[in-house]
Amino acid sequence: MQSDEATIAKLLEVPAGRPRLLVVDDQPINIQVMHQIFASKYQVFMATSGQQALDFCHKTPPDLVLLDVVMPGMDGFEVCQALKGEPSTRDIPVIFVTAHTDAAQETRGLDVGAVDFISKPVNPAVVRARVKTQLTLKFQSDLMRKLVFLDGLTGVFNRRYFDQQLAVEVARSSRAKSPLALIMLDVDFFKRFNDHYGHQAGDDCLREIAATLKESLRRPADLVARYGGEEFVCILPDTVFADAMTMAWELEQNVRLKRIPHLDSRAADVVTISLGVAGADGDSPKDAAALLALADAQLYRAKDAGRARACGNQLT
Ligand code: GH3
Ligand code: MG
Ligand code: MG
Repeated sequence: MQSDEATIAKLLEVPAGRPRLLVVDDQPINIQVMHQIFASKYQVFMATSGQQALDFCHKTPPDLVLLDVVMPGMDGFEVCQALKGEPSTRDIPVIFVTAHTDAAQETRGLDVGAVDFISKPVNPAVVRARVKTQLTLKFQSDLMRKLVFLDGLTGVFNRRYFDQQLAVEVARSSRAKSPLALIMLDVDFFKRFNDHYGHQAGDDCLREIAATLKESLRRPADLVARYGGEEFVCILPDTVFADAMTMAWELEQNVRLKRIPHLDSRAADVVTISLGVAGADGDSPKDAAALLALADAQLYRAKDAGRARACGNQLT
């Protein structure tokens, strides 16, 4: 089974393939120069106008943009500002490349969010070194962003991310008048499991349960998070209550079918989970705290009724 180190190592993997650079310049000759400098180590893409650059970044975000300042139509400052104003593109580092560097222009470039300024004609060694530095920083900050939202033990999202995403989904489903469901689940007799098999086996068990939950929820919008200790939560957007109940029972069965021995459990001879489901119809008002409280109350009912089962109710 996976260790913490293996989970972290997987996260640390450099994105597959060569880093992607976008060179934006209205003069094809300048793009050609950059292509020669970078083609051996990077995938180099090109855009000859600001609009083309923005379209490219929205569709297939590069790892870094080398941006000309003076272009007909939208100039480099406007392009940079547009990239920085948009959540999906604001983390792409931008380096300005310009023929006329003066302090005012450089200041403006940094003000709109550029990370560096390089003057034309470019010195290949200098531009290579600066790009390399910025890419290293970019990959490190990508990793930091991922790590703060992931649970170190199981690799699923953590509670911080869950809270944020629940707020997003509540707002979205309220606006769209679409259904939303929440499943809260807890491992049965897990204290006894730890006492009987040891804390390390307990950790392995939590990892296997997290993986089982993740592979059971197949819709891309579904989310699994570790809520704390041996408790997990799932957000099921656009899911009616009846379907969420079906999914909860499926999760119960899939965990049970892993057949992780638990000889000290009073619910079964393998590890089981209890689940509480809270559903909200399309029309009903949605509230994160109310959904959580309802899922928690239903989980308590499932425990009370003998564990290894799902209970649920709808918000009214
Ligand atoms: P119930 O069926 O009522 O949920 O009983 P339980 O024993 O599972 O519940 P209880 O809340 O009494 O105990 C939870 C146990 O989960 C106690 C704690 O040591 C264990 N636990 C919480 N987080 C971790 C963890 O990260 N790793 C391991 N190995 N154990 C954990
Ligand atoms: Mg428990
Ligand atoms: Mg618990």
